[in-house]
Amino acid sequence: MNVYLIRSEEISCSRFATIVDIVRRTIGPIKFIATDEDISVDDPDPKNKKKKNIDESKFTPQRLKWETLFRNCEVFREENKAIDKNDYVVFFTDNKNERNWFSSMDPSGAFNFFISTSGWADLLEAEEFYPVIYELATIPLMIETCGSLQEVENMAHKDYPNGNGPRGCPWDYCSNKKFVELRYRTGDICPDCRKKITENKVDPSLVRQVLAIMDDIRGQMLYKRIFPFIQQISKMEVNKRQGKLSFTDINNLSVHLGAREMAFYIFFLKHPEGVEFRYLNPKGVEEGNKMNKVYVNELRIIYESICGDAILARLDSAMKNFFKERSNILKNIKDELTVALGRDIASHYIIDRKPKSIKDGKKSLEHIHYIKLDRKNVIYIRDAN
Ligand SMILES: [Zn+2]
Repeated sequence: MNVYLIRSEEISCSRFATIVDIVRRTIGPIKFIATDEDISVDDPDPKNKKKKNIDESKFTPQRLKWETLFRNCEVFREENKAIDKNDYVVFFTDNKNERNWFSSMDPSGAFNFFISTSGWADLLEAEEFYPVIYELATIPLMIETCGSLQEVENMAHKDYPNGNGPRGCPWDYCSNKKFVELRYRTGDICPDCRKKITENKVDPSLVRQVLAIMDDIRGQMLYKRIFPFIQQISKMEVNKRQGKLSFTDINNLSVHLGAREMAFYIFFLKHPEGVEFRYLNPKGVEEGNKMNKVYVNELRIIYESICGDAILARLDSAMKNFFKERSNILKNIKDELTVALGRDIASHYIIDRKPKSIKDGKKSLEHIHYIKLDRKNVIYIRDAN
């Protein structure tokens, strides 16, 4: 079964790639397919992209009409003739919709779906994307079991007083978000729905795959929730080639960084003592400053190994841009880590700054940038670095 995933332009490729990563690593009959364009974080020339990226912080959600949501899926089908009518197409958007629904199937009966990725801010921090993944994973299970949207609704466990309330099951249909949350915590299917799944002869390997995704989400959420009590720092795998940081103790939750961000990040990882930013100024190299020469060269080698760009002139200008853009690069890294991990956990991994201390113990006005993380928690993937 093919499930094509498409993103609306306000969802960043990085955020989308994290979602796609989680569902894709399960084994089973469901193939989650996203275009490279939608998940490739690095985009040196945005003009080459058919689909734009919108600055998420400047995005104001609109209320989309029901037809518009599914029209996006139809357009995608028209542009990609290889898609079979039995394949699913799922459209992700931060926009709201006229019915205020979180997700739905095309009422025409076509296998088109949308999932709303916003409106989960009242969940715990850094957990907003779990409902999205849960919804995505359970679509094939629900449709394979029920066959139609109408039948899904008939089987739903509705709120009191119309129904018996939530059971911690994919068929929980609750408007109260606190109740909806129960599903992610159990990661289970209720006995009634299990019975129905068996009666309707749903492929057991599909059920296993969906349950594996649900369990993955449950494990990640659990780690984040108990972190304040156990303070166990996750190991982090650095995959330079793929521009990916994976947190192995959080079920390999991944964060995708662009080439510039990755180069900067690795540079600071290699310097647990911290580095003053002024040493990364290429101007200092021209002026003959030794420290600048060493650091700029090191950063340049890392960057070169990431993008394989051997053209010297281009590297030179990249180094100048690095310095000019340093605040943005730092912010991008911090944003991606915070979205995925939450502020508390992310504080161990971000590039932070502290005042440089001077001999008599007084604080200096100059700052050192550094990553707090104990480097014993860093694993460099061989061949990828
Ligand atoms: Zn149920």
